[in-house]
Amino acid sequence: MANTRTVTVINGDGIGPEVMAATIRVLEALKAPLEFEFKDAGAEVIAKYGTNLPHETVEAVLRSGVALKGPTGTVVGGGMASANVGLRKRLDLYSSLRPVKSVPGVKTRYDNVDLVVVRENTESLYAGLEHIIVPGVVESLKIITEKASTRIARFAFEYARKHGRKKVTSVHKANIMKLSDGLFLDCTRKVGREFPEIQYEEVIVDNMCMQLVKDPTRYDVLVMENLYGDILSDLCAGLVGGLGLVPGANIGERTAMFEAVHGTAPDIAGKGLANPTALMMSAVMMLDWLDMRDEARKFENALAKVHGEGKARTGDLGGSATTREFTDAVISAL
Ligand code: ATP
Repeated sequence: MANTRTVTVINGDGIGPEVMAATIRVLEALKAPLEFEFKDAGAEVIAKYGTNLPHETVEAVLRSGVALKGPTGTVVGGGMASANVGLRKRLDLYSSLRPVKSVPGVKTRYDNVDLVVVRENTESLYAGLEHIIVPGVVESLKIITEKASTRIARFAFEYARKHGRKKVTSVHKANIMKLSDGLFLDCTRKVGREFPEIQYEEVIVDNMCMQLVKDPTRYDVLVMENLYGDILSDLCAGLVGGLGLVPGANIGERTAMFEAVHGTAPDIAGKGLANPTALMMSAVMMLDWLDMRDEARKFENALAKVHGEGKARTGDLGGSATTREFTDAVISAL
């Protein structure tokens, strides 16, 4: 049996604690050799710490090297910088990996979507460099560097090679942002030449949105800078049944943090109605990353069985199961 690993768990805000409790129940039922160390982050802990990202939380993740995280809320407009963005930057989790795959049993417009969104996580407009020049005029800086663009391009191509993927599409708006997106494109193009067995193409982001909605099966691995990755992740989630189903990993050189693509879902928070699948699938990615393959396959197969049978289905997928009922069904299917 593998050595026990400590996982830093961040419940987060909104539906975070509910979907986290559900996911941990399954991990415990699996008897995965994991120890959980709970740490705080998010809007709801500001009163306690004076910040949404306590130093000890960052330290804990640096120590354990792996975190499982619920969504953390951010005030729209003013307020503090996002805890999400802070964690990704301070832990240098430069790549966001979001596999978007049709879930058998969940009926949507397409039943064979199999995409991977690779999003640069540390710069672009998410650098958070905004200032007021004069009242009524604000400047927001979009930072694109050769180093970060090359690093994310290499991550995307290496992922494609390792997982037998055929094509990498670089998504950009270099026709308008000629310098910044132009540099990003130069980097993905250059790295692409090192992977001759993988097809490489470039698509402008607005066209990409239309093409994905028309026929997502034409695409494989998509690589893009931060903001486009945020928007296209949600678009892709819509193709397979919504945000309740899409997992994610934020990966750096030494550390990885696993979290669903969805946010805090304040409209359903505290009601026990959230679909925990996205965080559960993020936990499957975490088990694979920790090399706990048997546990990962068991968890994945149980989720597939429950979705395939369609007996326990949460509200977002047209059913009436509560988070607990869905989780009970997954545990029974292990
Ligand atoms: P953020 O800005 O934090 O990324 P978002 O704009 O992606 O958040 P969400 O909080 O993810 O927004 O919610 C968008 C919609 O999707 C809401 O109606 C929410 O209820 C629904 N939703 C998100 N996650 C889930 C889930 N796990 N189960 C059910 N519904 C969900």
